[in-house]
Amino acid sequence: MNSRVHQGHFARKRFGQNFLHDDYIIESIVAAIQPQKDQALVEIGPGLAALTIPVSKHIDHLTVIEIDRDLASRLIENPLLSNKLTVIEQDALTFNFHQLSDQLGKPLRIFGNLPYNISTPLMFHLFEHQNIITDMHFMLQKEVVTRLVATPNSKNYGRLSVMAQYYCQIIPVLEVPPTSFKPAPKVDSAVVKLIPYKEKPYLVNDIKMLSRVTTEAFNQRRKTIHNSLSNLFTIEQLTELNIDPNLRAENLTVQQYCQLANSWS
Ligand code: SAM
Repeated sequence: MNSRVHQGHFARKRFGQNFLHDDYIIESIVAAIQPQKDQALVEIGPGLAALTIPVSKHIDHLTVIEIDRDLASRLIENPLLSNKLTVIEQDALTFNFHQLSDQLGKPLRIFGNLPYNISTPLMFHLFEHQNIITDMHFMLQKEVVTRLVATPNSKNYGRLSVMAQYYCQIIPVLEVPPTSFKPAPKVDSAVVKLIPYKEKPYLVNDIKMLSRVTTEAFNQRRKTIHNSLSNLFTIEQLTELNIDPNLRAENLTVQQYCQLANSWS
């Protein structure tokens, strides 16, 4: 039975609440994170504390960001977490991670079984904070992990692949079936580790340009890039950059997107 009630809490669909209840998966995620004392760990969407409690056993203090007021209250009252937890009742999409890192005086290690409806915008928000993040471990829809690691010339390669691979090294960790959650989602899930580059393989002078070029290219991914990028580049400019104007968005490498962005700055 796929009941929406778990541990006395009615799962709210609008907050993407699918609670983990599979000990093997929980232990595997904690083993992948390897929490160490003195690190600044931050959990996004702790929910009913399936990951929070096992992670907290390894460390002295943990910050969690939870949007659901009822769940935030339960976390504050949880005797297993007393004196260990700072609960921030807020939307992670607008949360200022720089400020938190300043307050804690450390770079952040972020993890979470993310609400799938906001996982992509949340990752883009976190990429903007990448210089104060050591690493991130996230449970995502398996399809999103496939897109994160996709390489050129494949149908899954898109704007998310280019932007994520520009910012981070990306390591898939494990796949997770729907039965590991209550209620069970309709899709498969996967855990991924993202490590922001300290020194990026390719430098971009103005990140807004990389964002604009990838948006325009992939919004019209069936067109050739001299068509989809005609607002930004002439055929001659593309040719000067050694980029064939007849290629399509999915044929260009991350390095070529960085080259295009830099040719504008
Ligand atoms: N970590 C728990 C687990 O693994 O069982 C819960 C995971 S559940 C998929 C997602 C959690 O994120 C829920 O607790 C939900 O209330 C919370 N959440 C949803 N949207 C959020 C947001 N914008 N900011 C912070 N937390 C959010």
